[in-house]
Order: sequence, then C-alpha cells, then structure tokens
Amino acid sequence: MKKLGGIVIFFILLSAGILVLHFCKPGPEPPEGKKTAVPSPPSTKTSPPLPPPAPTLPPPLPPPPLKTEAPARIAIIIDDLGFSAETARLVLSLEIPLTVSVLPYYPYSKKSAEWAKNSGEEVLLHIPMEPINTPDEAQPGKGVLISGSSPEEIGRQVGAELSELPFVSGVSSHMGSLFTTDSEGMRALFQVLHKQGLFFVDNLTTNKTVTKKIAGMVGLKYLQRSVFIDNVLSRDSIIQQLELAEKIARRKGQAIAVGHPHPETVSALKAWIPKAKAAGITFVRVSELFERKL
Ligand SMILES: [Zn+2]
Repeated sequence: MKKLGGIVIFFILLSAGILVLHFCKPGPEPPEGKKTAVPSPPSTKTSPPLPPPAPTLPPPLPPPPLKTEAPARIAIIIDDLGFSAETARLVLSLEIPLTVSVLPYYPYSKKSAEWAKNSGEEVLLHIPMEPINTPDEAQPGKGVLISGSSPEEIGRQVGAELSELPFVSGVSSHMGSLFTTDSEGMRALFQVLHKQGLFFVDNLTTNKTVTKKIAGMVGLKYLQRSVFIDNVLSRDSIIQQLELAEKIARRKGQAIAVGHPHPETVSALKAWIPKAKAAGITFVRVSELFERKL
C-alpha cells in the first residue's frame, strides 16, 4: 500500500509541474527599438550564390567614322579627240567613268563622239577659241570663235558645231586665251548653251578669263579644270600632276584633271588609277560634279 501511495504522489507532483509550466508566460518583450544592439557574430555562412554571369557579349564595334569630309572625286577629261580613230580607241581603253572632249569638223569627230557615247562615257564639244597670238602657238582649228564677232555670228557658229555632235552634255574650251577674256563673246556663247541645257568647263588658258562671272550672270552651269596633267609629256611629270589633282580632290572634295590623247598620258593614267582607287578616290564623269555628295 505504501508503494502505491508513493506512485500516486509522484503522478500528482508531475501533473502539477506540467500545469505550472503551461500557464507561466514569459515576461513582456522589451519594446521594439530599445533592444540593445548585439553585434551579430561573424557569419560563418557563405554568401548567397551570385546569379550566373551574363553570356559574354562580343566587344562593341568601333563607331563608324564621322563623314565630315566630302568624298574625294576626280573627273578625268581627255581633250582634243576627233583627229583619228586610233586616239579614240586609246583613250576609251581607260577603265574608269570618263569624259572626252571632241573637236568639231575633223575626220573622226562624229565617230569618236559616238564610240565614247556607246561606251557609256560623257561627251563634250571642245570648241576652238581664239588664243592670244604667239609665234609658236598652234592654230585653234576649224570652227574657232573669234573675239569681237557679233552675238549672231557666235550663235550661228556654235549652233552648227552642236549639230555636228548633237548628244553632248556640255562644252569645254580649246585654247581661248583671248576669246575667254571677251565678255560679249562669252555672253553670246553662254546664252546658246543655257538655252540648250548644256554646261561649260573652262580650261583656264589665261588668268584674265571672264567666264566665271559671265556664267553667273547668265545662270549657266559652270566648272573649271583643276590641273592639266600632260603639259610635260613624261610619265613622272604626268603622275606628279595626277597626284596634285588627288591632293586638290581631298581638300575640296573634287577635282578636274585634263589630259590629251597621248600614249604617255594613257599609260601613266593606267598605272596611277588603281592606286588612286585603292586610296579612296572615286572617278566620276564631269557632270556628276554638279551633284553635291556630302
Ligand atoms: Zn584642246
């Protein structure tokens, strides 16, 4: 009996202990913010894993070069065609957009102009104009415009020359160191050209030329040659002049280089053209220079 009483007392005490534990709540929590800052123990945990790195992009392309400079364009004009079939063939073997300037009334004037046109080249009428007479100056040739002629006479002459080569896109001057200083003569010529929608290229055989001023007054499309390439007929000199044209084209955006149908000229051009192309020069027909390409 004594043993049973002990067991009962044990269970009563155990139950009482459980009850006491159950109903005793812990004391109120200290208000938020008043907790004393307990320095957190140094973290032994490893930091959370970083997101996987983004796939590697190719390095950005360098920005395209700013086009602040006009492209360097050169128009090559070969003057004085019309004397022979051979010279026309020689000149048309140049494989660039080309302009040829054909003298009127020679045995191969029409043929040369037609061959050039059929090859897709540009054709100008190369009008002979009176030079200042010097003992060794060559004759300007048939159809020459003479200083002091009446506007009617000039109009008649130019009309006849244009009807010889009806598909030209413009006119250039052959010689003319006197005629290009004659304001009235140039005005008469430019009025005919303006009516026919043609342009004029002055070969600048004198620094007294009035062509620019008169073209401005008439409203004619107008250009001037930049360099003659073959005044000296040696390969070195021609290449040097072509390099000068290249320099002008880089500075001004464009240049007109004028040569003649000599084998030396064509041979030097054939040697220089691929190098100029590789260096970024664009060859154009002369009328393309009126289009501003920036
Ligand atoms: Zn000429």
